[in-house]
Amino acid sequence: MDTQLRGIGMTSARTRERLINRLREAGVSNERVLEVIRTTPRHFFIDEALAHQAYDDTALPIGYGQTISQPWVVARMTELLIEPGTPAKVLEIGTGCGYQSAVLAALCGSVYSVERIRPLQEQARRRLVELGLAKVRLKHADGGLGWNSEAPFNGILAACARPDIPAELLAQLADGGRLVMPVGDRLQKLTVVDRRGDEFTTRQLDAVRFVPFQRGIQ
Ligand code: SAH
Repeated sequence: MDTQLRGIGMTSARTRERLINRLREAGVSNERVLEVIRTTPRHFFIDEALAHQAYDDTALPIGYGQTISQPWVVARMTELLIEPGTPAKVLEIGTGCGYQSAVLAALCGSVYSVERIRPLQEQARRRLVELGLAKVRLKHADGGLGWNSEAPFNGILAACARPDIPAELLAQLADGGRLVMPVGDRLQKLTVVDRRGDEFTTRQLDAVRFVPFQRGIQ
C-alpha cells in the first residue's frame, strides 16, 4: 500500500468525523450512507496536491474540466437512490475519479459505471482496483445511451446535468427502480424518477450545480 492509501494526518478519524457532522447538519440522515462516506478514502481519488482538502465538503478539480462531486451531493444522491431498498444492480453515468462508484459498491449489489473521457476512466479503474473494488464494471462510452446489454438496472445515478432525462436511461430502468439525476441547464434540480410498470413518477428536489452531461466520447 502506498503512503497516500495508508493515509497521513489529513485522513485522521477527527477530520472525517467533522465531515460526517457537517453532512448530518446538511440533512443527510441515512446511517449506512454516512458510515460508507466515513470509511471511503476520498483523498485517494484526487491529486495529492489537493489531498488536504479531501474531507472538506466541496467539489474539487480532477482534470479535463471535471470535478469530484461535493461529499454532500454524493451522500444525498446515494441516500435517495437506496431509499426504496438497496438496488441489486446500479448504473452510474459519469465515473469521473471513481469516488461515487466506490461509495455505491459498498452499498449496492453490482455497479456499472460509464465515463466519456478515456483518461479519467482509466485512472478510475486503477484506483478502484487498488482499493479492492475490481468488481465495479467500467465502460468508456457515452452514458446518454446507458448500458443496454446489462439493462435493466434497479438504480440509475447520473453525476452530470442535462435539461432533459435521456429516454434510453428511462427505458433501462427496471420496474420498481429509481433514477436520480440533476436536471436543468445552469440552474439544476436533483430529480428522482420512480418507475412502476410503464408509469414514471418524477419529483424535483434540491437545487444543485453539476458539470454538463455531454454527448459523444473523448
Ligand atoms: N462520479 C464522480 C463525478 C464526476 S463529474 C465523483 O465521484 O465525483 C461527472 C463526470 O461525468 C465527468 O467525469 C464527465 O466526464 C462525465 N460525463 C459527462 N457527460 C457524460 C456522458 N454523456 N457519458 C459519460 N460520462 C459523462
